[in-house]
Formats: sequence, C-alpha cells, structure tokens
Amino acid sequence: MNVLDELFAEAEWHADLAAAGPDGREPRLRLVVVTCMDTRVNPYEILRLKTGDAHVLRNAGGVTTPDVRRGLVVSQRELGTRHIIVMHHTRCEMAGITDTAFKDDIEADTRLRPDWALEAFTNVDQDVDRSIRRIQADRTIPYRDSICGCVYDVDTHEVRRPRWPADGDRAAAPPPSLFRG
Ligand SMILES: [Zn+2]
Repeated sequence: MNVLDELFAEAEWHADLAAAGPDGREPRLRLVVVTCMDTRVNPYEILRLKTGDAHVLRNAGGVTTPDVRRGLVVSQRELGTRHIIVMHHTRCEMAGITDTAFKDDIEADTRLRPDWALEAFTNVDQDVDRSIRRIQADRTIPYRDSICGCVYDVDTHEVRRPRWPADGDRAAAPPPSLFRG
C-alpha cells in the first residue's frame, strides 16, 4: 500500500473535512494567499486562517506565474476576493537551483527540454517584490491595490516584511489580526 492508498483509506478523514467546510464558497476574509508548496509552510497556521477564510494558491516558490494570476482573476471576479498576500519563506528550495542547470539535467535524462520557466531566485526578498510587481502589472486582475508581501522564517516561525523593496509603502500592510504575535 503506498501513501495514496493509505490516505484514501481514511474514510473518517474525509467525513471530518466535509463537516468543517464553510457554507459559502466566497472566502470570508476576501483574501488570496500566494505561497510556496514547501512542507514547512502552513499558511493556515501561520496566518491563523480557518477553513473558508481565504483562497490559497501554491506552487514551487510561491511565484506569480500565469497560472497563479489566472487563479487570482477567477478568485476576484467570481468569488469576491480583494486582498492578496504573497508569502515566500527562508531556505526555499527555489533559491538553491538555477534554471539552466535544472533544465540541462532534465534534458540529459529525458531528451526533452521543459517549455516552462523554472523561476528560481537568489534573494527571497527581491522575489517577493518581483512577484508583487507582476500582479500589479497584470491589468486582467481587477483589484491590485491591497497587496502585502511577507517572508516566513522556517526556523524562527516569524513572519516579516521584505527588507528589499525600494519604494516604500507600495505593498500595503496586512490586517494585523492575520499575523501571529
Ligand atoms: Zn519554497
């Protein structure tokens, strides 16, 4: 039995999850969180979110790829969200690899070169900023004036604002109630 079989054998787990679901489809806090798929990052726990509070869009690095921006458009246009948090984290795997070497390895193994951008980065603060700028530049996303960037420290469990952004208060502060401590 592999891990998928084990998970789906847990019928009680599904029942509990269904019971916890909210009545409405629209996120209560009108919030979308964009973050990394890293196992150490639990956005619900970190931001004290409950089921039904927010949409959470995740990928390798928490990068605002076209598919993440597609999710933001659907979330805002169809499900009423207005606020966005872009949360990256320290010691991210995406900060330790390079696009070219990664694709070279894949090509050597499979004779296929990926058609996607890896979107690795070297500075997490800069990448939060880059991700926010991409959202702000995408006019298909209706609401781009309430965006907050932050970095979760996987060792101290603290959430901090990026140190790098140059032009001040461009990224609005998050509601204080969202943060621990
Ligand atoms: Zn990561």
